[in-house]
Amino acid sequence: MSDINRMRLADSARRIVVKVGSGVISTRKHGLIPERIQSLAGQIAELVNAGREVVVVSSGAVAAGASVLGVPDLNGIPIRQAAAAAGQSRLIWKYEKHFQARGIRVAQVLLTQDDVANRRRFLNARNTLGTLLSLGIVPIVNENDSVVVEEIKFGDNDTLSGLVATLVDADLLMILSDVDGLFTADPRKHADAQCIPTVESVTDSIRAMAGGAGSREGTGGMVTKLNAAARLSDTGIPTLLVNGTQPGTITRALAGEAVGTLFTAHASPTARKKHWLMHVARVDGAIHLDAGAAEALRSGKKSLLASGITQVTGHFEMGAGVTLCGPDGTEIGRGLTNYGADDINRIRGQHSSRIEAILGYKAYDEVVHRDNLALNDG
Ligand code: GLU
Repeated sequence: MSDINRMRLADSARRIVVKVGSGVISTRKHGLIPERIQSLAGQIAELVNAGREVVVVSSGAVAAGASVLGVPDLNGIPIRQAAAAAGQSRLIWKYEKHFQARGIRVAQVLLTQDDVANRRRFLNARNTLGTLLSLGIVPIVNENDSVVVEEIKFGDNDTLSGLVATLVDADLLMILSDVDGLFTADPRKHADAQCIPTVESVTDSIRAMAGGAGSREGTGGMVTKLNAAARLSDTGIPTLLVNGTQPGTITRALAGEAVGTLFTAHASPTARKKHWLMHVARVDGAIHLDAGAAEALRSGKKSLLASGITQVTGHFEMGAGVTLCGPDGTEIGRGLTNYGADDINRIRGQHSSRIEAILGYKAYDEVVHRDNLALNDG
């Protein structure tokens, strides 16, 4: 990809997930490196002030907590979980302090794999992150290491950041590591190894180049980064792998400079929303709309309200994927629903202000929020 294309990508990336590896902001021996966090916060603050939305996925809890525990090594799951618990608060505090100094508010979000595998929780996590972003707040995400059990662990934050990018429908995932990018061979062993500027497709030969090489501090190696990039590429989200230990990396990358390795996306941004919905949601039922609601949705600016719903088919819960049908019964799009089928049946045709009186609760005004729906062409 030429620099022009890098420039275009950098310009158009409005919502960005920045993954910060342990090796960027900590050492096992000395814990967190505050100047690095300060530098990252400064660069991200500039992006936010320029109107971009940023979600940070940061590792470093275990490394930050190690020194607190005062034990010689971190062998075994309980001791690592204890280190994560002790370190997470220190990690978030450092971010909070440096972002606050730039006038940016942050929020901590700790996720487990259950939160994205379970669709009700998927939608909740998505709505929470979306709300934080709409308020100009930078969510700082990590895995909930201190409670999560092995079977439901993401295991590494490369995988987690890829899922977060899908969760928030990001335009770009930027992975900050302590290596310059993907090399033709392990640069620590081969002096002539070259950094590859662009990867169009994660083929077997690309995987072979990655070997087991990666960071010294973190959990993931190059392989977990390639896996995350390959998965995102299919859902239309490019991944940029850059060296976060170098000053100004984020700023340079988003000025269109050819730093690191760019894994291009296969789906176009316009097709992405639909891919996203197909990817995350199997359809469990249908909601039928009256002509006014169908028209409102087609305008692209409106959400689906209870008042425009005429009929519901299928049994589904909040968070399910649903087909949206026009008055003639044909599919006009798909969405993730904020209410289950039984509740929609009770509120259909009613004004949103009546929802609480009818159901005894009101989680949302919208039955399907416009951010969570994709319309068919035409
Ligand atoms: N969640 C871990 C931490 O904060 C890091 C996992 C990883 O290195 O990818 O320490």
